[in-house]
Amino acid sequence: MAKNIRELEVDDVLFQEGEAADCAYIIESGKLEISTRSEGEKVVICSLGEGDIVGEMGIIDKEPRTATAVALAQTRLTRVTQSQLTDRISGADTIVKLLIKILLDRYRSGLGKVKGDPGDRSPDVVAEYIHQGIDKIRLEGELRDALDTKKQLRVFYQPIIDLQSRKIAGFEALTRWIHPKRGFISPGLFISLAEETDLIVPVGLYVFEQACKDIVKFQKTASARKYPAPLFISINISGRQVADPSFLPRAAEIAQDCGLDKALIKLEITESFAVNLGAASEWINKAHELGFKVSLDDFGTGFSSLETLYRLDLDNAKIDQAFMLELQGNPRNRQLTRDIVAMVKGLGLEVVVEGVEDQSQLEFISALDCHYAQGYLIGKSIPANEVREMLNHPPDLGQPYG
Ligand code: C2E
Ligand code: CA
Ligand code: CA
Repeated sequence: MAKNIRELEVDDVLFQEGEAADCAYIIESGKLEISTRSEGEKVVICSLGEGDIVGEMGIIDKEPRTATAVALAQTRLTRVTQSQLTDRISGADTIVKLLIKILLDRYRSGLGKVKGDPGDRSPDVVAEYIHQGIDKIRLEGELRDALDTKKQLRVFYQPIIDLQSRKIAGFEALTRWIHPKRGFISPGLFISLAEETDLIVPVGLYVFEQACKDIVKFQKTASARKYPAPLFISINISGRQVADPSFLPRAAEIAQDCGLDKALIKLEITESFAVNLGAASEWINKAHELGFKVSLDDFGTGFSSLETLYRLDLDNAKIDQAFMLELQGNPRNRQLTRDIVAMVKGLGLEVVVEGVEDQSQLEFISALDCHYAQGYLIGKSIPANEVREMLNHPPDLGQPYG
């Protein structure tokens, strides 16, 4: 008999109340009676049959068996190991964890009542799960409201310079959530929250539209100040937006309505989206057909970097800010940055270096002939109403290289 199969005759005991739990079972055929004892008397809780799962509670919350399972007929079971269940639960969303905990708790306290023991089974861990899960549900609702009223979601702009002229060439749109009670919520938190649900689709479209409208205004200021080329706008696009077939056509309509040249819109995607290279390639082709540019964000941090770069028809790559952070002092890191930049350029892509925080980093990447730079040295992200001032009085970054 296969190791994961167990067969019971009538009256065989599968497990006893109080025993340590090490696995659960799926009932393939037959019938089990689940019972407990109250004041010395047997109390039958239920009977389970084909397709039911039994013994799962003890292995999920690592408590001893709370009931006894006895075969009422010849029964065939498939064993489910602890890790088969717990690995999935530990990787699950906080809200799923919360629901599982609530159900288990409810079941256990119901069982307690049957046994005349209403004992509170809400240890700190459960309370913490509940707190985190409920907070997340609440935050998700608030994000929906923020999107409806629009006022709390604000798009900020971080300047990107052309390294040849050292002038501002474009901006990256970075979204901020200014919550009326919680204050500033980082995009790291709320974008991933929005990504877990379909909320990222309307949030993403809102940001896209706002960024298109704003860049048109910035372009007018820049052209009045005789900036050499029209400003571009880089917009972050999350995996869920990429998967949504209506996104690109809708984005094209928005750009059209704003009178914005789509070649000045850089859609920033990350390598995680390119896991399926075939689908990624198709999406990029579609974006190109519509006239957009496509940029690979956070390059150099993933695992499939080389293949992604090589196989996809990208317009530019943004070298992750970790490279600038580790530049100081370590000659090997400097060499690594040189090699990465050379490789990206060798494939015909434009190079944007992120996280440039000081002048020595700027000089280093200028010497490598990178195309663009972004980082706190040039400017932090600012609200739209401060951009005009920045364009009128751009940061002094010294003389261009060469
Ligand atoms: P990202 O696209 O890699 O954006 C760059 C992040 O690095 C920004 O953080 C920016 O403020 C920060 N940064 C820029 N220059 C420097 C520097 O010199 N030093 C350091 N230490 N950091 C710098 P932020 O605004 O907190 O955004 C975090 C991430 O949230 C973004 O990373 C992006 O992945 C995501 N995000 C932001 N807005 C949106 C959005 O509208 N849609 C989507 N899908 N994602 C967004
Ligand atoms: Ca980005
Ligand atoms: Ca980035």
